[in-house]
Parts: sequence; structure tokens; C-alpha cells
Amino acid sequence: MGKALIIGCGGVARVTIHKCCQNSSVFSEICIASRTVNKCNEIKMKLGGGNTKITTAQIDADNAKELIALINSFGPDIVINLALPYQDLTIMDACVSTKTHYVDTANYEPKDNAKFEYSWQWAYHERFRQAGITALLGSGFDPGVTGVFSAWAQKRYFDEIHYIDILDCNGGDHGYPFATNFNPEINIREVTAKGRYWENGNWIETEPMEIKREYSFDGVGKRDMYLLYHEELESLAKNIPNVKRIRFFMTFGQSYLTHLKCLQNVGMTSIEPIEFGGREIVPLQFLKAVLPDPAGLGPRTVGKTNIGCVVQGVKDGKPVKYYVYNICDHQQCFRETGAQAVSYTTGVPAMIGAMLVMNGTWRKPGVYNVEEFEPEPFMNALNQWGLPWKESFSPELVD
Ligand code: NDP
Repeated sequence: MGKALIIGCGGVARVTIHKCCQNSSVFSEICIASRTVNKCNEIKMKLGGGNTKITTAQIDADNAKELIALINSFGPDIVINLALPYQDLTIMDACVSTKTHYVDTANYEPKDNAKFEYSWQWAYHERFRQAGITALLGSGFDPGVTGVFSAWAQKRYFDEIHYIDILDCNGGDHGYPFATNFNPEINIREVTAKGRYWENGNWIETEPMEIKREYSFDGVGKRDMYLLYHEELESLAKNIPNVKRIRFFMTFGQSYLTHLKCLQNVGMTSIEPIEFGGREIVPLQFLKAVLPDPAGLGPRTVGKTNIGCVVQGVKDGKPVKYYVYNICDHQQCFRETGAQAVSYTTGVPAMIGAMLVMNGTWRKPGVYNVEEFEPEPFMNALNQWGLPWKESFSPELVD
């Protein structure tokens, strides 16, 4: 029995809120706090009246003082940060000063520089340790489940892991020529950045979308996928001993890539402010305003996602190949929570991570990534809470 403060009320939060309400023996009370309080009230109207008591609040999560006041008045055991990566540090500051556990799904990014790295959040380790509280970083799907999958592979099937390929396939179709499946600003910053992967102790940089492979995904079929930098590469390179190479691939359809190229060519994906109509605007933020809202894609998205890890290494001196993945159906997610599978596959692990910290299973003072904890309770919870996984010992490999 405990209380969680959920910050943000977008696509991902919507799923986490549903899951917390389904898991009322752990989440007896939640407070949903976001910039636009009407969204929090709407979901409270829909789900209130069950066994989880729901309250709502308006909050500017860029403001640590406001956060501290809200935490002090609500008294949560944990803060689940489902706002944007820009807010991570103010929310972590508020957690340290109120001695409240913390969970998020995306690493901190400064607004004016599309740079993804854990250094800013890892720097809080000593402060969390001294406050006796846990910060669980990146408890979504990727990062999140992919880290747990890697820790599980390491523990169960390998003496040494040499190669990890994280494959993220969204085989869903929303019928729009161009839309992003989660926050457009964060999504476009991620895919327009240079690619990067870890090999033999070094980062190898590529041009955006330079490396392309084709892969046959269970439940989806053949898709083109592209090498991107993704934040879990940094923590896995640190936490999986002796790993020689870690890469991340994501699938994109031709229509998405053609539109993106065109938007890039005309400067619409830039985060440099420009003068327009007598005021300053950021082109990418303007683009976000005209694109379909990801939270509204649920009713029209059909098809499946398939996300997992292809792992190679050795056990008892013999080579081992292993693939662990989840397939998730967009329409099934929508019927259950009103959100599509990209939000669902992120929102469920956020609830699971928060649950494991709250019930003490995954609790140690300091700042940690998911793969630094015992993977089994998380793997069991994935099966229980809607993200069952499959294993294969003869996977197709990525060259
Ligand atoms: P949305 O844009 O749908 O939702 C973000 C929410 O945060 C909105 O409700 C927004 O308010 C609120 N918010 C933004 N700024 C503030 C602020 N300053 N104060 C208070 N509230 C604020 O995003 P998603 O739900 O798609 O994504 C949520 C998080 O999940 C992001 O960090 C994203 O990067 C991460 N993510 C992680 C994945 C993973 O697998 N690990 C995959 C997908 C997403 P308003 O409603 O007013 O706009």
C-alpha cells in the first residue's frame, strides 16, 4: 500500500495511470500532476471510483520549489516522472530535498542542445545515497525493458556477453503520411541526431540513418531498420562486463523518412530559435504544434510492435545466440487503456519499476539503471502486467 505522484499526463502517463489503478494493492493512492490540469481531471473522471484513490494538481515541473511544495502536501512514497526529459533534474532535486524515491523513462536532455547522456543524472548518485532514497533511471521499454532483458540474458544464459543488438520495430500503421508515435519534439531530436554505437571500448559515430539493415520480425514481417544512438547503449556499455559491441536499430517506413528528410531540408526540425511575426519561435516546436497529437493516434493505429535484444556470447566455453522480445498489439492496447502500443510499452514498465521500488524489491540508496537490479521480478511482472516476452536460441543475426 503506498502513494505515487505521477508527473505528466500524456500518452505514456495515461497507460501508467491505468496500470496503477489495476494494481491498487500497491498503488492505493495516486496524484496526477501536470502542466494542463484538465487532462489530469479527464482521466480522473474516467478511472476514479476504483480502489486507487486519485487526486490531481497543476504543476510546472521546471520549478523545483513548486514540486517540493506538492510533494510535501501529498506525501508520496515515489515520484513517477512521465513529463519530458527536460524536467528530470528539477524533479530529482525535489526528490532529494523531500527524501522521496524517483523513477523515470528517459534521460535528461538540455532543451537547447539535443544531447543524450546520463552524466547529469548519474551525478546525483551521492545525493540520493545520502538521502537514503532510490532513483531508478530509464524504466520504459527502451531504455528499460531492453536493459532488464540484457541483465536477464547475462544472468541466465551467458558467462560473457560479447554482442547486443537492440531491435525496435513498430509495425503499426496510423494512416497519416507523417506522425510520430510519442512526443514529436523528443522523437525528431532523437532520429535526426548522428548515429553512434559502442565497439571495443569506443563510440563509433555515423551520419543520421547511415547504417540500414533488413530484419524479419516475428508478428510483423520484414522491415528496414536504421542504426541510431539510444541512451541505454551508454548504461549497458558500463554495466555489462566485457561487452564488445552494442548497437540499437529502429524501423522506419519510407513515408516517414521522406517527410522527415523534406522537413529537415527546409529547416523545420531545427531547435535554433528564429524570428517570426515579431516573436521568437523554435521551428521544431512549431512543427510539433501542427503534427497529429501522439496521444490521439490510438484509435487509428493498427498492427504490432516487436522490441527486443539479440545477444551473442559464450557459456561454458561454447558460443550462444539468444533473442528475447515482446510483441504488442496496438488495438489491444487501445482497448485496454485508450493509448497505442508505443505509449503502452513505456507506461507498463514505468508502473512495474515504481512497484518494485515501492515494495522494496528494487531498493538501494543511490541512482541506478534498471540493469543494475535483479532482473527476475521485473521479467515476471512483464508477463503479469501485459507485456509477455518470448525467447529464441536460434535467432536471425544482424550483420
Ligand atoms: P507527451 O508529450 O504525450 O506527454 C508529456 C506530458 O508532460 C504532457 O502531459 C505535458 O503537459 C507534460 N509536461 C511537459 N512539460 C511539463 C512541465 N514543465 N511541467 C509539467 N508537466 C509538463 O509525451 P509522452 O507521454 O509520449 O512521453 C513521456 C515521456 O516518456 C517522455 O520523457 C519520453 O521521452 C518518454 N518515453 C520513453 C520511452 C521509453 O521506452 N523509455 C518511449 C516513449 C517515450 P501538456 O499536456 O500540458 O503538454
